Amino acid sequence: MKTLQAKIIVQVICLIVGAQLVTGLLILSQVEKAMHHENHQLGLALAYDLAHVCARSLISQDLAELRNYIRYTMSQEYVTQAMVVDNDCRILMHNKLEKVGEKYKGTCPEQGQYLFSEHYTNEAGETVMDVLAPIAAGGVQLGTAILSYSHIGIKNAVKILTRDIILIFSIGSLLAIFFAILLAEYVSRPIRHLSRAAKELGSGHFHIKKMDTEYNDEIGVLARSFYEMADKLETEVCHDALTSLYTRNVFQIRLVEEYARSQRNNIPFAVLMLDVDHFKMVNDTHGHEVGDEVLRHIAANLIGQTRGSDCAARYGGEEFIILLPETHRRAALHVAEKIRLRIETDPFLLLDGRKIQLTISIGIARFPEDTSDYNRLISMADQAMYKAKENGRNTVVEASHL
Ligand code: GH3
Ligand code: MG
Ligand code: MG
Repeated sequence: MKTLQAKIIVQVICLIVGAQLVTGLLILSQVEKAMHHENHQLGLALAYDLAHVCARSLISQDLAELRNYIRYTMSQEYVTQAMVVDNDCRILMHNKLEKVGEKYKGTCPEQGQYLFSEHYTNEAGETVMDVLAPIAAGGVQLGTAILSYSHIGIKNAVKILTRDIILIFSIGSLLAIFFAILLAEYVSRPIRHLSRAAKELGSGHFHIKKMDTEYNDEIGVLARSFYEMADKLETEVCHDALTSLYTRNVFQIRLVEEYARSQRNNIPFAVLMLDVDHFKMVNDTHGHEVGDEVLRHIAANLIGQTRGSDCAARYGGEEFIILLPETHRRAALHVAEKIRLRIETDPFLLLDGRKIQLTISIGIARFPEDTSDYNRLISMADQAMYKAKENGRNTVVEASHL
């Protein structure tokens, strides 16, 4: 039970099953209580009527009505015996004739009292309870009417109710398990994803695959904050603060990746080394701040002239480097020329309207034509760039022409 998912499932199931158990027991005890109460009231009403009929019969000496009434009482559901006893608890009348003359086994009530006996088990093995009602006439107690009431009805009803409750709660528990799994998945999936992403961040991979699901709750807030943090971290670590181009480190990683891909697929790639011509003069003439603006202007042009799959990075002060994946010789030369021309024809505009004319020198080295050692590519492109400087700047030189 180590994972968050397992913990949620176990806890939710325990909670729901526990709640169901308590609710079930509570319902059963309340229903049983209510049924007992209802049974008592019914028994009392019947015993009360029996006592009345008995009093009338004893006064009028018409025992036929009493016998009929005992028969009627016996026809009522769950009545197991009906009898009339005298004040000494001797049975005067009983639904079973053979019982007449015997003594009532329970406790006879005091004068004028209604009484419920304790529950006991009768000869048929049923749990029963007696209801005792005094038979009174002219303020004198003549005897007691007694009814025995079986609790078999309550027992059966509770049995059926228990079965129904178990059935409903089993369905409820299955649903609880299903929803617990859903809930656990809902909560643990984004956390698993974010912890994987955090590990990737830790190992230097900033391009995190975002979750497919949009969460509009606290999980969503957590995920968005995490992605923002990752983006900021990526910007800080991977992008040059002045120009927003990639850093030298990122270029190095991309170079290694491209080398592996190129070897696998047998597709060439090229590296361009670029250096702004006479940049020191820009600083000296217009100041460092303008120099910074000019570098940003050049960087924007480099981005504009390359594809998204290329990697344009700031290599040093006013030096840039570009990786051109899947690029053949002529295409590399074409890109370099395009960049050179763009820088030449897009001067930097000062606030006062004056223009700063800019040019750039570019060296090209290709893999695998110029060297099959990718570590040498950068230095070969650098040497070609220096050759371009020697050749009068604002030119492109290929390493193969050195
Ligand atoms: P060349 O054509 O031979 O490359 O001449 P250059 O003047 O461009 O070369 P040099 O190496 O003499 O000067 C480069 C200058 O770039 C010097 C340095 O102050 C400036 N520089 C480097 N980084 C930055 C920067 O971040 N901002 C600004 N404003 N200037 C920078
Ligand atoms: Mg330089
Ligand atoms: Mg320079």
